[in-house]
Amino acid sequence: MRQEFSAGTVVFRRYNNRIEFLLLKHSVGHWSHPKGHIEPGETPEQAMARELAEETGIKTFEIVEPRLGKIEYTFRDRNGLIHKEVVFSLIQVPSNVKVKLSNEHVEYGWYPPQKAIQKASYEGDKFILKEAIKTLKDKFELQ
Ligand code: ATP
Repeated sequence: MRQEFSAGTVVFRRYNNRIEFLLLKHSVGHWSHPKGHIEPGETPEQAMARELAEETGIKTFEIVEPRLGKIEYTFRDRNGLIHKEVVFSLIQVPSNVKVKLSNEHVEYGWYPPQKAIQKASYEGDKFILKEAIKTLKDKFELQ
């Protein structure tokens, strides 16, 4: 089976003293985190920063947890099955950050923790959000 490696970010802001996660709606319909392929010669950290900038326009952030966790899934393209691993960082962005989507996405939203878990389309993305919430519980008061 072919193997692909991507890097992604769980992005949050503190807004009116609440934590809100950023989710993007892909043009094919699912809601997910910013992420993309790790190019040859790139570290996961470089890939996540590049993909974040390409997909959201965000260039200012603070890394809260560089190794939040990893998800895996398998999907099919016209040449067969692909197994994919995506490593995630947890980052905080300024509360007034502006999001500028690429052509890949059609919508975005900022969601409080439980709403974000509901909104994320895939189990892996829900799982990594829960990991982020656990990490943030130690750092901030979460409702
Ligand atoms: P990327 O550069 O973001 O890695 P991509 O579009 O090549 O881009 P995916 O986003 O992994 O790759 O999408 C490939 C397929 O996997 C699509 O059918 C998508 O709906 C599906 N997919 C995306 N994220 C997940 C996930 N967390 N769990 C299961 N399937 C997913």
